Amino acid sequence: MTEIEAGGQSRVYRGVPVAEGIGIGPARLMDPAHVPSHVPRYRIGDDSIEREVRRLKRAFREAREELEELAERVRRQLGEHEADMIRAQVLMVEDPAFVTEVEELIVEKRLNPEAAVAEVVGRFEEMIASIDDPYLRERSADVRDAGRRVLGKLLFVDGAINPTLTEPAVIVASHLVPSLTVRLDREMVLGFVSEHGGRTSHAAILARSLAVPAVTGLEGLTDEVLDEEMVIVDGADGVVIVQPTNEQLEKYREMERRFLARRRAVIAQTARPAVTADGAAVKVLANVGDAGELALAREYEADGVGLYRTEVEYLTHTSLPHEERLVEEYSRAVELFPQAGVVFRALDIGGDKFPPSVPLAHEKNPFIGLRGLRLLLQHVDDLMLPQLRAIARASAAGRTAVMYPMIASVADLQAALELFDRALDEVKEEGHAVGPDIRQGVMIEVPSCVPMLPELLGACSFGSVGTNDLVQYLLAADRNSERMVDAYDPFHPAVIRTLAAILEAGRAAERDLSVCGEAASDPPFLALLIGLGYRVVSVNVGAIPRVKGVVRALSVAGCEDLARRALSARTAEEVLSAAEDFTVEHVEPAQERALDAPRGKG
Ligand code: PEP
Ligand code: MG
Repeated sequence: MTEIEAGGQSRVYRGVPVAEGIGIGPARLMDPAHVPSHVPRYRIGDDSIEREVRRLKRAFREAREELEELAERVRRQLGEHEADMIRAQVLMVEDPAFVTEVEELIVEKRLNPEAAVAEVVGRFEEMIASIDDPYLRERSADVRDAGRRVLGKLLFVDGAINPTLTEPAVIVASHLVPSLTVRLDREMVLGFVSEHGGRTSHAAILARSLAVPAVTGLEGLTDEVLDEEMVIVDGADGVVIVQPTNEQLEKYREMERRFLARRRAVIAQTARPAVTADGAAVKVLANVGDAGELALAREYEADGVGLYRTEVEYLTHTSLPHEERLVEEYSRAVELFPQAGVVFRALDIGGDKFPPSVPLAHEKNPFIGLRGLRLLLQHVDDLMLPQLRAIARASAAGRTAVMYPMIASVADLQAALELFDRALDEVKEEGHAVGPDIRQGVMIEVPSCVPMLPELLGACSFGSVGTNDLVQYLLAADRNSERMVDAYDPFHPAVIRTLAAILEAGRAAERDLSVCGEAASDPPFLALLIGLGYRVVSVNVGAIPRVKGVVRALSVAGCEDLARRALSARTAEEVLSAAEDFTVEHVEPAQERALDAPRGKG
């Protein structure tokens, strides 16, 4: 973490900018120890000690019962040896030393039970990690798991996630995980600041769609900031100021006013169609994950929903949703866009998304582990079929499509298509109404897809390019790591050439293609996409008004010239500087003119 300035109490840090905007408010630390990265930490009142200790004991009891059941199931299915691993965790949650240490923190330090559990688990983990014996060292994962289970019991109430922010605050966390981001009340979150995470991590995407200013890559910050200290977050420049001076506060409040005024002006023009200066229409679809984002997609007049991240529902509940609940949720989405349509993405969990209702083994590299369709194919009855049945049933409400994440081979797609047929036959046989034409598509995000596109596109109706993952897998650069923000570069010539090859394959197969990764909402990248020939983008819902404005400022002829130069470039720097110069020259002046012009349709 770079501290760039310190004067009096005020400390200024520079990290990686994630979501633009200015946030000013008291800090709220969400993760004190090394253990789960999303634990609220606050002081409890004297009168609530007894209640909190009772809550703690109940959490331990429930965790123990759950682990005992799990050990028994594992014994029956896999054998004694595997069950012993779970039993080690039972011993952990029964250990009086563990329980007493946590209780002491609650009673003596007035710490909330969640933070107390996390702190003690952190201590145990550290102790075990320092042991010489490699076998015993490995056991620190058991401690973490057991602790996480107790924490889950504390954080979740009646199957729904317990809201933990009672006043507006800037969240300071070591990792911003999607399960934290989705459950926070948007009205209460003034900014996100984290030690770790990349620009296209799912939490970062959520921050942008919630329009919450965010900065990452500030390693060590959780040790530097105290709860309630005043913090300024500048998400465009990646600057975080702790305990700002009055002059700094004044300066940033003015910047915040200007930023919000500009955003309001851009939003006021969202009804104007996204047509380039030389007359080419570009469809701007929305990426959404929940009802709030769907409502915004309507408000911003999206041309439909190009990516419905269905996993959000699973991240916010402790039990699997029933089919009826999914049908209701999906039908409501389709009803909002009956003509333009909704593309539901089959559940993409694993990677950095771990719903509490789906117990998954720890993997060293979860992004190249059991994720997306690979995971679904191992959970056909409990995850995949119920969801596909719900999507099929929702199609009665209007235009519906489904696409499959993390397709790596033709066999993957075949398996998915067969399961969809099965789901469709089942619901029809049961007498449910379904729409006349449910389109199925492939997400193009694993590089092995690209040479197989003739076969893949031949077998389905459309493709959607997920640049967030395509870039990370193509360049071997973790999208979730703040250390990879330079290596993870959508402007790399290999990415541009791959995007051109994908478009070529789409044309040859006569299939619709769209781009649904975050890069599509970055003006210089959008210019490149249009120049390459893409005419449909699906973007973070918060970016829709701006993306439409950028399209209106571009001309296809200019973009094509830019794309030609990018295709012959040798380095990412060449591509980026050409695209940025182009945007500065063409987009910015046109946007300034548009913002000065009268508002509304036209
Ligand atoms: C992508 O990979 O580009 C994408 C849109 O999906 P996600 O970000 O959810 O992985
Ligand atoms: Mg993806």
